[in-house]
Amino acid sequence: MTTVSTEVCILGAGPGGAATALFLAKEGIPCVIVDKAVFPRDKICGDALSGKVVEILNRYDRSLVERLSRDAIQLNCWGVTFVAPNLEELSIPFRNKPKDPEEARAMAPGFITRRIDFDAFMVDELKKHASIQLFEGVDMQTYTRTATGFTCTSADGSLEIKSRLVIDGSGAHSQFAKKIGGLEVEKEHHCAGLRWYYEGVTGIKEGNYIELHFLKDFLPGYFWIFPLPNGQCNVGVGMRSDYVSKKRINLKTELQEIITKYPQLAERFKNAKPVDSIKGYGLPLGSKKRKLSGDHYMLIGDAASLIDPFTGEGIGNAILSGYTAAQQAKTALESGDLSAAGLKGYDLAIYRRLGGELNLSYRMQKLVRFPWLFNFVVKKANRNKTLRDTIMVMFEDIDLRDRLRRPSFYFKLLFSGKN
Ligand SMILES: Cc1cc2nc3c(=O)[nH]c(=O)nc-3n(C[C@H](O)[C@H](O)[C@H](O)COP(=O)(O)OP(=O)(O)OC[C@H]3O[C@@H](n4cnc5c(N)ncnc54)[C@H](O)[C@@H]3O)c2cc1C
Repeated sequence: MTTVSTEVCILGAGPGGAATALFLAKEGIPCVIVDKAVFPRDKICGDALSGKVVEILNRYDRSLVERLSRDAIQLNCWGVTFVAPNLEELSIPFRNKPKDPEEARAMAPGFITRRIDFDAFMVDELKKHASIQLFEGVDMQTYTRTATGFTCTSADGSLEIKSRLVIDGSGAHSQFAKKIGGLEVEKEHHCAGLRWYYEGVTGIKEGNYIELHFLKDFLPGYFWIFPLPNGQCNVGVGMRSDYVSKKRINLKTELQEIITKYPQLAERFKNAKPVDSIKGYGLPLGSKKRKLSGDHYMLIGDAASLIDPFTGEGIGNAILSGYTAAQQAKTALESGDLSAAGLKGYDLAIYRRLGGELNLSYRMQKLVRFPWLFNFVVKKANRNKTLRDTIMVMFEDIDLRDRLRRPSFYFKLLFSGKN
């Protein structure tokens, strides 16, 4: 058995774990990061990277995002189209696109890139830092508390890592979050998702808009089409796990039926064909506040259940929580207090930054249960520029998201009479 001692051990080198290691390296703090997979590896996902990913990675190094935006592994994404249950569409640009193609490329508000490529891109960045020790192909299974932190041991017993601090980014099925953090899967705060890679889907909007379809026979779930590089698409469905269980829904059958059943989609899939099989994975939603840290540990990303309950977006919050955990680790290591009290600032910082938007998204998730209301908002937004602009800045402007939580704000916006 190999034994490694370190101040910080990170479990998982997905976007959350990788971002944590990079921000620690920026602060001059060495760490060990371990993943059970060998990169490049697939991760079932919609593959859409939001403006938040861009915003936080820019804090690490702007040139990383610039490199990504020029890499053939990604498509620049300029907006989102919502399709209401009555089939009315609402297209919202994330930002106004500059006319000059070079300028546009340099400032794309979001990206779509297969996770097999994006995660490997991030792991390649880890390898550039001498202070980051990366172990791939090591499945960490046992977590033993010690007087000074944790000893994490691999399933085959070949590696043990002794550290003062564990940062758990091992994803939706994290055993650390369950056994040490005490987090359980709660079906009403959890979503089931399926992904299907396709080629030949037509009707993709200029600017590579991602599409979220709220189909009348598939509520409160949603269907998506996200364009990918080389003309392929990521197609999928998501629905809260309690509805899936209660209504005994077979998501795989639903997904196969959706693309033939609705005429507007059937036309677009007429000459399209799948390029792999349907694959599924869980999405732990951030619709419930949880305890994210304790003595000598912090949970990040999906291990901390931080996925947006409306859009299913989790990469941005994984990277943001990685950044926040690295800042908290710095403070705690400097003060020497790695107790639950010394790390509590992490929970506070996460919910200060994300609490408002997770709450708002939870309300919007509930709105989807009322198709008439959804139809009304889409209709109104298509006729009211202020409302459209409001939704556009929602993707970037946090203060505005706060204002959106006030019922009076909606009231004024929706019933102002301005069309
Ligand atoms: C169907 C679907 C569609 C989605 N679409 C989107 C989308 O379009 N945009 C978006 O932003 N989010 C989307 N999400 C959510 C997104 O995939 C996650 O929020 C994101 O991957 C979280 O990153 P993470 O780093 O926390 O965890 P992960 O990406 O899951 O990484 C965890 C890492 O930990 C490793 N690991 C696990 N167990 C161990 C162990 N025992 N020992 C060592 N290593 C371990 C894994 O190999 C993995 O590399 C989607 C999710 C699903 C399921």
